[in-house]
Amino acid sequence: MEKKISIIGSGFSSLAASCYLAKAGYEVEVYEKNSTIGGRARQYKREGFTFDMGPTWYWMPDVFEKFFSDFNKKPSDYYQLHKLTPAYQVYFDVLDSITIPGSLEEIYEVFEKEEKGSSKHLKSFLKSAEYNYKASINDLVYKPGISPLELITPVTIGKITQFFSTIRKQVRKKIKSKKLIQILEFPVLFLGAKPSNTPAFYNFMNYADFSLGTWHPEEGMYKVIEAMVSLAVSLGVQFKTNATVEEISVTSIGEANGLIIDGDFVASDVILSGADYHHTETLLPKAFKQYSEKYWEKKVFAPSSLLFYVGFSKKLQNVCHHTLFFDTDFDAHAKTIYDHPSWPKEPLFYASFPSVTDGSFAPTNKEAATFLIPLAPGIEDTQEIREEYFNIIIERLEKLTQQSLKELIIFKESYCVNDFIDDYNSYKGNAYGLANILTQTAFLRPKIKSKKVKNLFFTGQLTVPGPGVPPSLISGKIASDLIIKNHPI
Ligand SMILES: Cc1cc2nc3c(=O)[nH]c(=O)nc-3n(C[C@H](O)[C@H](O)[C@H](O)COP(=O)(O)OP(=O)(O)OC[C@H]3O[C@@H](n4cnc5c(N)ncnc54)[C@H](O)[C@@H]3O)c2cc1C
Repeated sequence: MEKKISIIGSGFSSLAASCYLAKAGYEVEVYEKNSTIGGRARQYKREGFTFDMGPTWYWMPDVFEKFFSDFNKKPSDYYQLHKLTPAYQVYFDVLDSITIPGSLEEIYEVFEKEEKGSSKHLKSFLKSAEYNYKASINDLVYKPGISPLELITPVTIGKITQFFSTIRKQVRKKIKSKKLIQILEFPVLFLGAKPSNTPAFYNFMNYADFSLGTWHPEEGMYKVIEAMVSLAVSLGVQFKTNATVEEISVTSIGEANGLIIDGDFVASDVILSGADYHHTETLLPKAFKQYSEKYWEKKVFAPSSLLFYVGFSKKLQNVCHHTLFFDTDFDAHAKTIYDHPSWPKEPLFYASFPSVTDGSFAPTNKEAATFLIPLAPGIEDTQEIREEYFNIIIERLEKLTQQSLKELIIFKESYCVNDFIDDYNSYKGNAYGLANILTQTAFLRPKIKSKKVKNLFFTGQLTVPGPGVPPSLISGKIASDLIIKNHPI
């Protein structure tokens, strides 16, 4: 008889797992509380404008290729990918920015122009980053996080000091330009932690940034979700939207036998949750929860965010597809996220203007913009505060890029802590999961396989390997491998 696997949530990790499990011959059904598939990677459309509501950076194209190749497919079977040249722009002051070009040779030139001799240091830094990337992506990140022994490999033993040093220390050893330092410290922000708290081994993110490049799927990140759904459906996966899982039903011997969805019982042989880990545990009877509220309180979460989706009536000047505004004190902002949760006085922010390179995002001669301010999860979120911060960043954008913008705004929509909680059942409204600091790496992250319910598994950005779209794809593979091993057909 076929085994039925019920998957909670339809984010990248759930979609990846659904494909692997259906390919292995299980009956797979995905239940998503929202009306659309894709989790945090939903799209918002308004008045001819399109916005990727969550991820906008397509990094590590090799991970996407590997995922599709496991099904004898290629990304290009589903979407057109373009390398962004330039990759992105970073502002430090009024009309003072560094643009990161699309090729490594040009990046070395940019570094050399900013600080004589820095390209030599960058080359050796990227050599170490490449080594770590290959060791991680080919091996380490696919480990299930069951035992500390997984981390003991010839590579990690050779690089042990990099686990106890930080990206910040490593970058600052040789590079002195404040601007170049900020650029080199930026990629680890994707891991959800401060560079001063992220092991130097994670410099593989710099290899992803400079050597592999920044890519853009035509019509946006949602195309990747559509691709995965199309693949999943072709493999027999069934999707139910507007289907909120209210309870995971567990027998007295610690076996999950089904889900309660909108009051109905749905029998299942195995359950996999790609919903936020903390939330999933709230769906269980108390005796079967693995982690206490205290445990979650102590964890370092990746930031939440205040986002704005804005339609402008004209094309903007002096901006790139991806533009970062690092003109204020990074450390002061980071303290408000990690040390003393509060609203930052002078926020750094990120802006995406996808219509600069992709006409499908905005009507002709108009510009679509997404703004993002990283914030401490769980802080107060009101319309008044959102409005105040919108004004702060629009005025900064006007000043830094030297143009008037307020009168060009056709509409704006905001998204913040409360929306992350309401829409995704996100713990304290975190945007992208649990930070990848040393004490929350690999076997130290919440477990993929429940220790208390024998046929319950977890996937997604709160478990291994961590936050981001590529790690979520990998997480789906790890979870499905464990299910196949533990509950063979
Ligand atoms: C604003 C933002 C920007 C980001 N930028 C980038 C980027 O540029 N590049 C990058 O690589 N990554 C980025 N990330 C991170 C990346 O988007 C995530 O790591 C990834 O999408 C997480 O996928 P997931 O599978 O863990 O879960 P999610 O996407 O969180 O999916 C979980 C799903 O479970 C559903 N769910 C919850 N509770 C229930 C329930 N009770 N019943 C049914 N369904 C339920 C939710 O509705 C949701 O759809 C960003 C994230 C955000 C929020």
